[in-house]
Amino acid sequence: MQNYSHLSHLTCTRCHRTYPVTEVRERCDCGGILFAAYDLKAVQRTLGKPDLAARPQTLWRYHELLPIQKESSIVSLHEGMTPLLQLPRVASQFGVPNLLVKDEGRLPSGTFKARGASVGISRAKELGVSGVAIPTNGNAGAAWALYAARAGLPILVVMPTTAPVTPRKECVVSGARVVTINGTIGDAGRVVREAAKRYGWYDVSTFNEPYRLEGKKTMGLEIAEQFGWSVPDVIVYPTGGGAGVVGIYKGLLELQQMGWIGAKMPRFALIQSEGCAPLARAFAKGERETTRWEDPQTIAFGMRVPKPAADYLLLDILYRTNGTVTTVSDAEVQEVRRMVGEWEGFHVCPEGAAGFAGLRRLRKAGWLTGNERVLLVNTGTGLKYIDQIADDAREMDLADLDLEALALPARRA
Ligand SMILES: *Cc1c(COP(=O)(O)O)cnc(C)c1O
Ligand SMILES: [Zn+2]
Repeated sequence: MQNYSHLSHLTCTRCHRTYPVTEVRERCDCGGILFAAYDLKAVQRTLGKPDLAARPQTLWRYHELLPIQKESSIVSLHEGMTPLLQLPRVASQFGVPNLLVKDEGRLPSGTFKARGASVGISRAKELGVSGVAIPTNGNAGAAWALYAARAGLPILVVMPTTAPVTPRKECVVSGARVVTINGTIGDAGRVVREAAKRYGWYDVSTFNEPYRLEGKKTMGLEIAEQFGWSVPDVIVYPTGGGAGVVGIYKGLLELQQMGWIGAKMPRFALIQSEGCAPLARAFAKGERETTRWEDPQTIAFGMRVPKPAADYLLLDILYRTNGTVTTVSDAEVQEVRRMVGEWEGFHVCPEGAAGFAGLRRLRKAGWLTGNERVLLVNTGTGLKYIDQIADDAREMDLADLDLEALALPARRA
């Protein structure tokens, strides 16, 4: 019988030590991040590109390259295969004619975090853990709470009191135990670590267990498939902890090793906020790790990560792919979010808007020439942050209707 998954072992990204996949593992003993590794030769032998065409339009179409060993372990809400959108007005106004946007706002819970949660929870269930615990700025917690509920797994979500209220309430709806603390995401991580140790739960902090990343990886697999088994020249990604970027890169590397795509990698353009830019600072100095960003401030909460655990992997990807990091202000994020909405009828999240603002900066600075095929990831729906939009509805008295004030501008060409 053919394997459902070709997961073979776990391997450390620092010291290259390997571990069997039967254990419930977190980091390597050296502290390094563990990657799931696959028998890619076996996948190459048993899977053909045409086989995929007949499969459902979810991320589970790539199950040979995912860590779930039995189909019955899968916890799914039909996630994956998000569309690539053309945005002709943005493309022409920003001078980036070959722009496509992958819209992750359509996933369950409204962000790409659903990918990591679906695969991570499925694997946690398969490994037989009794519960999971997660620190979050909001969106990861909301996604993991949904999938944990579907799996019947108890989940503890710990977030800073400054985290946005929408994902907090999403956790409540899913029946999670939600705790807010007067501290940072790092402090939330410490609380989770202690609770997980005390009660024997799986600490599924980002990059602490190896399987969440495998869900994020499917963005890379989808991009290659959607590009006809090739890659864009540039991938623009609004970055916080960096699991999205590391995941896409890992997915593309595996496809390269299978010979499904050529040797060319996209250049990665990471976008950070001026108020929290540890990767931009380290990259500008040519360093291999980041230093903690003091007092991180940004309205793009998903990007508020003062010291990404995977900094050494992210900086390596930037140096290897001739990539870059650029920063944008909150004011630009607000401006561009309204532009994209008004020009295209597309309501992006502030992180996605940061991506567009970064794209505009990179084009102005000449890092982009306008000839590249550019893929930008809109990481979530704007609905999750609706409070950030000014309410400029006009009030009118029914008894005193002013028809002049109801006149609309001319139809746009
Ligand atoms: C988490 C998040 C990000 C940042 O993603 P990383 O993988 O942590 O870099 C961007 N946008 C949204 C909407 C997010 O929830
Ligand atoms: Zn190690």
